[in-house]
Amino acid sequence: MPQTIVIATGNVGKMSEFCAILKDGAFSLLASKEVGFSEEIDETARTFKGNAEIKAKAVFECVSSKYEDYWVVADDSGLEVEALGGRPGVFSARYAGVNASGKDRYTKLLKEMEGQTNRNARFVCCLCLIRPGCLPEFFEGECRGSILTEPRGNGGFGYDPVFLPEGYTKGFGEMNEEDKNALSHRGRAIKNMLERLNENKA
Ligand code: IMP
Repeated sequence: MPQTIVIATGNVGKMSEFCAILKDGAFSLLASKEVGFSEEIDETARTFKGNAEIKAKAVFECVSSKYEDYWVVADDSGLEVEALGGRPGVFSARYAGVNASGKDRYTKLLKEMEGQTNRNARFVCCLCLIRPGCLPEFFEGECRGSILTEPRGNGGFGYDPVFLPEGYTKGFGEMNEEDKNALSHRGRAIKNMLERLNENKA
């Protein structure tokens, strides 16, 4: 029987990447709204880890009363830009206001980066896994790269059209999901989680 994991997110882009990466049949994935959780969670921590824990705990509290053996995974992620002192960082989702689109966010970022020669940046992802009877477990992944001077491609979500991963000629927005997942911050964090789960099994 596949293990059910509730992914504590309402972000369709993130959900699609989780489904693509964890598609081998060992897990059955549900988005939080599929188990009746659609509250807005206040991300009050100042770190990705802190916010991932807040989201995972909120969803686990709701899920565990109905489904005893479900696991919950929350993803907190964002883009850190060197020339901006690490901004937008944990505020990546709110960088251009609460109701802004991905396009609004990267347009604001390109504006703020106009004339900047240091375009180094990195995507960061922290996952928090909660399994019944266990303490929260954390897994991290990063992807280094740079901020393009104009958007490229229509793939992915969020800041993907303006991010060029280090060592590649195609930006995240120009890659298919499989190629992005193989090197992305989220792909790497999920791989770290799977390695730990496999070690536990052995
Ligand atoms: P949060 O984890 O819900 O706080 O949202 C993170 C925000 O960072 C997203 O809404 C995106 O704007 C951005 N982000 C995180 N991961 C990615 C990614 O893989 N591609 C593009 N943008 C991302």
